[in-house]
Amino acid sequence: MKITKIEVLKVKTTRPTWRPVFCRVYTDEGIYGDGEAALAYGRAADAGFAAVREFAGLIIGMDPLANEVIWEKLYKTTFWGQNGGPVIFAAIGALDMALWDIKGKYFHAPIHQLLGGACRTKLRSYASQLQNGWEYGEDNYACQTAPEGFADAARKAVAEGYDAVKFDFFEKKPGGGDFTAEDRRCFVLPKDLQTVEDRLAAVREAVGDQVDIIAEAHSRMDAPGAIRYARILEKYNVMFFEEPDTPTPYMTKYIADQVNIPLAGGERIYGRWQFVPYFEDRSLQVIQPDLGNCGGFTEVKKICDMAHAYDVSVQAHICASALSTAAAIHLEAVLPNFVIHEHHICNRITYNMGLTTEDVQPVQGYLEVPMAPGLGNEISEKAYRMADTLSVVE
Ligand code: MG
Repeated sequence: MKITKIEVLKVKTTRPTWRPVFCRVYTDEGIYGDGEAALAYGRAADAGFAAVREFAGLIIGMDPLANEVIWEKLYKTTFWGQNGGPVIFAAIGALDMALWDIKGKYFHAPIHQLLGGACRTKLRSYASQLQNGWEYGEDNYACQTAPEGFADAARKAVAEGYDAVKFDFFEKKPGGGDFTAEDRRCFVLPKDLQTVEDRLAAVREAVGDQVDIIAEAHSRMDAPGAIRYARILEKYNVMFFEEPDTPTPYMTKYIADQVNIPLAGGERIYGRWQFVPYFEDRSLQVIQPDLGNCGGFTEVKKICDMAHAYDVSVQAHICASALSTAAAIHLEAVLPNFVIHEHHICNRITYNMGLTTEDVQPVQGYLEVPMAPGLGNEISEKAYRMADTLSVVE
């Protein structure tokens, strides 16, 4: 079997800052596979699109089942592949995801079977980023500022059967508008810390002590600020604290040594070489690599197995289309060190729905592991119609 053609598309949604980048890899045996570069948000979608297109040209004519051979070629012969960042690892990841989709269709097996077999048939999931509300189908986030708004969002998720929720308690100011980098740095003002604590206390009060609360900081703080935030989180038995600071091994270790709460991170750490220091210094207890910006199944499975040797748990990061969600489910299904699945509110919002043939949602807080060949999901015709840029590489 040979790769004959690759389409790369960037989709224009009704949210200007949400620009999913997909690829579809075709073969001479009529099988195709789909992948996603998980850079829909932030400011790298154009770069991701260009990188997927450029890397795609290197694998035309190759055997799509030889994912290791292709991965090594993309990493070692592109000059910028080695120690690359999100754009490079998203390009490799999107193509690798599509190759695994092809492999599954070729062998008539779901990807989790090819990765070694599912340890579980459904995944415990948490409702993620509830500071944006927990609405369904709306085209805008319902950003919360008041403690009661935070509590309401948590109650909605728990009523749907979730027993874990995640918030960034330090995103919007009480009167509206974002907290600035200045607000979150160093000696955070007591009144801002009180805002954070009021919100967290309201959520704990609303959900009781049998629901896990995860706290997120989006790497927006510095270490002194994050440690002050963590002191509050400790009081409310928060499950783990995600991205307290710009991810570096030395500062993550510094924070880990001072707080009594597990730390999580990984959506901004790329490739096995960059993960090693966090394992060796035991600073992260949960890693969150993203298949769509960390090199795909071929790379992320290796990282997760390395994590297992250090008793580090895995929650795949997902903030992209439902194609990335499908990929994460296959990976998480097979990991002995899986901890919990992230179900981001973007999975429920209109601008991100219908871009794939399936928009799976957890039932009673659990996502079912699919049994269809390959990913079991693919780019929809609607997404192709919504593409503002489409390149064909042959
Ligand atoms: Mg995060």
